[in-house]
Amino acid sequence: MKLTDISTIKSLFERHGFSFTKSLGQNFLINPSVCPRIAESGGAESSVGAIEIGTGIGVLTRELAERCKKVVAIEIDTALKPILDETLADFDNVEVIFADVLQTDINALIAEKFAGMEVIVCANLPYYITSPVIMKLLEDRCGIKSITVMVQLEAADRICAPVGSRECGAITAAVNYYCKPKKLFRVNRGSFMPAPNVDSAVIKLELYNEPPYKVDDERLFFEVVKQAFSQRRKQLINPLSGYFKIDKPVLAEKMEQSGIKAAARAEELTMENFVSLYRIVEQSRE
Ligand code: SAM
Repeated sequence: MKLTDISTIKSLFERHGFSFTKSLGQNFLINPSVCPRIAESGGAESSVGAIEIGTGIGVLTRELAERCKKVVAIEIDTALKPILDETLADFDNVEVIFADVLQTDINALIAEKFAGMEVIVCANLPYYITSPVIMKLLEDRCGIKSITVMVQLEAADRICAPVGSRECGAITAAVNYYCKPKKLFRVNRGSFMPAPNVDSAVIKLELYNEPPYKVDDERLFFEVVKQAFSQRRKQLINPLSGYFKIDKPVLAEKMEQSGIKAAARAEELTMENFVSLYRIVEQSRE
């Protein structure tokens, strides 16, 4: 069954009365070379368990099922069920869970479905929840080995920008806390049905076993990062002193003592600088 073939897709849609829901980010892959590349670069192999987010009609799901020991896919749209019953019928190592990934307990899912297996995530993500999905997978500390996902090109460039560059944002610093993100390859908009207005790219996040930064209160660390970037082209001392209620001259002095210029902007900071800022905020609360 060739799920990138437009006549096959149209016939499935007609027989099962399916139509796209734009608000769910339903842009299905029709370029036959892309799914095998995602699966291979994502580390899909016979000993591994894979989580997929958003099956669509199962085009990537099938590539994962052919290569992995087991696949658990989470899909929000129950209208896809009759289609998936047909397109995944050849596989006995695939389970589709109809749920919202953001409401799914991924730790519990891994413990229940993938005991003893190394787990990877591969997906063509619904774009409207790219950052929340990535941050959920990272923050929940699920023991996932790597996350290989298609995202909009702009999001890929932002996530994979060097920390301390103009392209860096709060998501860049947050992701770099857990892993070294890599942009793998670009995918043009014509590879999807319907075609979106922008191109995409596949990125890979290989998680550190232990984050190299010593942070006891991760929630506070990410709040500091978020506030620092809240006025990204301006001096970060203003939002930080306002939000965390620290006297500006006191904060300026502590920043200088930690080697951060009081006039610095968030996009100039290194990961070590963010950790120092977090320490300053944490100590100011004691
Ligand atoms: N993997 C398919 C492909 O590459 O053709 C579909 C990718 S499409 C970009 C995103 C998929 O995610 C859609 O099937 C959509 O219904 C599903 N989706 C959207 N929001 C979701 C959510 N909150 N939880 C789980 N799946 C979701």
